Amino acid sequence: MKIYDTLTRSLAEITHSGSKVTMYCCGPTVYRDAHVGNLRTFLLSDLIRRTLELQGNSVVQIQNITDVGHMSEDFHDQDKLLTQAKLEKQDPYAIARKYEEGFHLDTQALNILPATGFPRASDHITLMQELISSLIAQGNAYIGSDKSVYFDAASYPGYGELSGNKLDALKPGHRYEYSDDDGKKFHADWALWKSAGSRSEMVWESPWGLGFPGWHIECSAMSMKYLDAKIDIHVGGIDLRFPHHEDERAQSNSYLGRECVNLWVHGEHLLFEGRKMSKSAGNVVLIRDLISRGFDPLALRLVFLENRYRSQMDLTWETIAAANKTISRWRKLFSEVRGVEPQVNEEILESLNDDLDTPQVIQAIRKVEKSSDLTLEEKSAFVLYADKVLGLDLHRKPEVQLLTSELQKLIDDRAAAREAKDWDRSDALRKILESHGLVIQDSASGQEWSWADPK
Ligand code: AMP
Ligand code: ZN
Repeated sequence: MKIYDTLTRSLAEITHSGSKVTMYCCGPTVYRDAHVGNLRTFLLSDLIRRTLELQGNSVVQIQNITDVGHMSEDFHDQDKLLTQAKLEKQDPYAIARKYEEGFHLDTQALNILPATGFPRASDHITLMQELISSLIAQGNAYIGSDKSVYFDAASYPGYGELSGNKLDALKPGHRYEYSDDDGKKFHADWALWKSAGSRSEMVWESPWGLGFPGWHIECSAMSMKYLDAKIDIHVGGIDLRFPHHEDERAQSNSYLGRECVNLWVHGEHLLFEGRKMSKSAGNVVLIRDLISRGFDPLALRLVFLENRYRSQMDLTWETIAAANKTISRWRKLFSEVRGVEPQVNEEILESLNDDLDTPQVIQAIRKVEKSSDLTLEEKSAFVLYADKVLGLDLHRKPEVQLLTSELQKLIDDRAAAREAKDWDRSDALRKILESHGLVIQDSASGQEWSWADPK
């Protein structure tokens, strides 16, 4: 399989030195629900993985959960999580776990296969401290005048190769990190460990005093630990190319004395009605917004598949509605066919192996659907094979919208709450279920659920 490598700026074959392909995908910062833009990037690693697995490869995939250290420009250099915890008047760890759970539900709704592991930054503080100590000992990092530890950007000769932002072109005054750290010696250096200052939550003891880790060091520490310091593919959104991945590469490569990541793969941004989807732009769409409008979340997956991952794409409600219709039509056609096995198809493989040309595969399905030369069984065998990567559940009956195990658990919890006559909890659970597009009806014989009609 060939994929576009940001470092060499060319298509490259995915290879693996061990028995399995190792893939690291930057995960969510769990201070809010993942929006569908984030999910487009998470889908990218799923598509790479499914394509590799379709051809007999095993993939170990690690996706980190950022629950500390990601600073925000929007909130005057505050930790995104602590800011949200204050806003919601909750413990920061409770906020982190709540949105982490939401992330798993949302990815599940999009048929994104769960990674092999989801390590949390806050569970790996010692690991990060050990890495920072080694970088200091090797002369790649230093303790700043403010007791924070900084990476010495000039100590890594390859700095700037990934993003094109070479040190001699980087000007002072540009914000390279989400903080105007004033204890560093050079403007392009960045914090590996930040001194706590007045901060009292999510801080840890360290050889350099009380503090917390920077964002970039978590990905170096956890990717090397869980993938044996040999990462075949590293995936993230294009905005992470700089500074996040540039800095991660400098850290990991300096520590190892060799290249840590073989291929850097970046997905382009999702726009919504013309602007990059982001919380600060105020144009965020969530999976639950789709469900409450009566759309199958997999309609969104189809919209993503109809666009190449390396192109910016503009999402609208109209494109989602059109994809929703297409999926229903395909399901109507293919769910009736029985006893057909997926048929290996070279054309599909070629498209996927060619830098994930999913639009080409969708086109092929449209052609097959219309073909008068193929029997319905032949068409079905073709679609079954493609769907192993597309993940659109095209053989599911259209009218049956399956419950996720999480929703089923909420329904069971509500039955138990009613049994215990805990009406407050039962009402609260009803609200959550309704927000996921379910209609709940209580009667003497118990509760019944159905999907709300599309709006
Ligand atoms: P975050 O939770 O903010 O750390 O972001 C998680 C992932 O989503 C990162 O890989 C980002 O690059 C990616 N991302 C953020 N905004 C968008 C967007 N509008 N379209 C596609 N990916 C995005
Ligand atoms: Zn990362």
